[in-house]
Amino acid sequence: MCGIFGYVGKRTDAAEIVFGGLKTLEYRGYDSWGIAVKNQEAGSKNLGTLTAEKEIGKLPDKLPQSSSLPAHSTLAIGHTRWATHGGVTVENAHPHLDCHKHIAVVHNGIIENFLELKEELIKQGHKFHSETDTEVVPHLIEEEMKDSKKGFATAVRDAFNKLKGMNAIVVAYAPSREIIAAKNGSPLAVGIGENELFIASDAAGISKYTKHVLFLADNHMVILGDHLKLLKLPDGKEVSPEITKLTWHFENAEKGKYPHFFIKEIHEEPRVIKNIALNGVPNAKKFANLIEEAFGTFLIACGSAAYAAIGATYLFSKIAKKHVNFSVGSEFKYIEDFVKTKTLVIPISQSGESIDVIEPTTKAKLEKKAKIASIVNVLGSTLYRLSDVNFLLESGQEKAVPATKSFSAMIAAVFLIAYTLAGRAKEGQQLLLQAADNIQDMLKDAYIKNITRVTQRLKTSEHIYIIGRGLSYTAALEATLKLKEAAYIHAEAFPGGELKHGFIALIEKGTPCIVFAPNDETYEEIVSNAQEVKARGAYIIGIGPKNNEVFDDFLPTEDIGEATILPQVAIAHLLGYYLSLARGIKDPDKPRNLAKSVTVK
Ligand code: GLU
Repeated sequence: MCGIFGYVGKRTDAAEIVFGGLKTLEYRGYDSWGIAVKNQEAGSKNLGTLTAEKEIGKLPDKLPQSSSLPAHSTLAIGHTRWATHGGVTVENAHPHLDCHKHIAVVHNGIIENFLELKEELIKQGHKFHSETDTEVVPHLIEEEMKDSKKGFATAVRDAFNKLKGMNAIVVAYAPSREIIAAKNGSPLAVGIGENELFIASDAAGISKYTKHVLFLADNHMVILGDHLKLLKLPDGKEVSPEITKLTWHFENAEKGKYPHFFIKEIHEEPRVIKNIALNGVPNAKKFANLIEEAFGTFLIACGSAAYAAIGATYLFSKIAKKHVNFSVGSEFKYIEDFVKTKTLVIPISQSGESIDVIEPTTKAKLEKKAKIASIVNVLGSTLYRLSDVNFLLESGQEKAVPATKSFSAMIAAVFLIAYTLAGRAKEGQQLLLQAADNIQDMLKDAYIKNITRVTQRLKTSEHIYIIGRGLSYTAALEATLKLKEAAYIHAEAFPGGELKHGFIALIEKGTPCIVFAPNDETYEEIVSNAQEVKARGAYIIGIGPKNNEVFDDFLPTEDIGEATILPQVAIAHLLGYYLSLARGIKDPDKPRNLAKSVTVK
């Protein structure tokens, strides 16, 4: 998924600037990182060589003192990786170099035809040092440059045109004072300062230097040197850039008194829900009108956001008597034939950069001319810019990889839209405010003791099963994801009715089963399901407003109608966090193998 950052300009501490930029992009991947810097003498005389440094693991707080990167340089590019091809090794970290170490490339995406390109390059005598798909790019450029008529830019253009898949590359070439970038999928933003240019995977890291930004469109290439030059691909014809002036404020969240962002962000859930209750009605009205007018509504989302979308299908049906369709982002292309000009597509995404959501949304917009109304957290993100209308969640920067407050915000948003559609916006607002108060109470020590008692019981479990019915099935799904990603425990969610269709076979003496039992039409049946698994030896943890003799342990919520989903979800988040601590996981904010924003397919 990776974060890319590059700098060329008047400043002489390019390595430091790029390192600082990468720190802001770490949410995109953190298994390894690397920087290539142009070697220059103090007077900026170009020595025509590059120094590259690569490390495994997360970026340290500061560029290490021991770094071999030149402290004085006006050009550097860097990368923080989320491996797709080849393990997490120094060799596989970016930047990747050509045979002469003159060309350095950082890359985001997957080069689908890399094997055939690599085979051909090996035949031509190129030597490879990594298992990545990326490494073909510097060698391809090197090969193109053997044609003496081709300069750096033409060689990058011709090499990029040979790549299949959705990719973004940023290239430095030792003898040149330019950085060249090209993309056809992953995001790249160019920052235009005074006598300096930046390039990054998002605009947040650039915004502290300049507010003038060019969001690079797909199939475009940009040359950053003394000036900016924008070219269209595949031919390389020059086009004029459309520069946006950023009016957005990018915050950089701090942990404050909390040991981790994960728990800090759970503590922000009441504020985030209240904000949507008090200020979300105008957006909810816009969305309600669009849903009324649409010939079919599709929700598309991935991960936690997909569970929020499943929750929305229950809420729209139950409260607003509206049918909406749902698809996981990556599956949408297999059912998109239903999408027509008057279809409404509602993508839901925290980052607004999820490739599995952006790709089908773009297609629905450009090919089917569907209307796009996004529910996103990040202002100015790709989805935000792609949409006709946005419901901005305003939950603030979410730094922990496991989603918490952004998920609650998504549920609050779809909840308010459903109530608004039903003409009951005020009632919806009231219920959300009550849910926020209930969560506030749960964050007190007395309640956290209940949570940690349960996590002590669960910490050695290999499998945990979680059931709910109706809207509570959404809470069950979200809970399983938190247990998997935060505590590395295998957890599975089922609608209670599915129990006898298979998974009851897995219940043994002591198998933990979490049961979401709100005070609604699902209560009787879900309690019966709890009885059935208990009869096979399961250890039952009930969550809801009413205790029941079948529960071996119980985590209470208030009874807030459909809004009970929000305290249920807060409990799921707290269980995820405290289980990760109970299991001795070092950094719950950055679980292994994950990245906050999934920008490769
Ligand atoms: N496919 C490349 C790799 O595995 C880039 C992955 C990324 O986008 O971080 O190195």
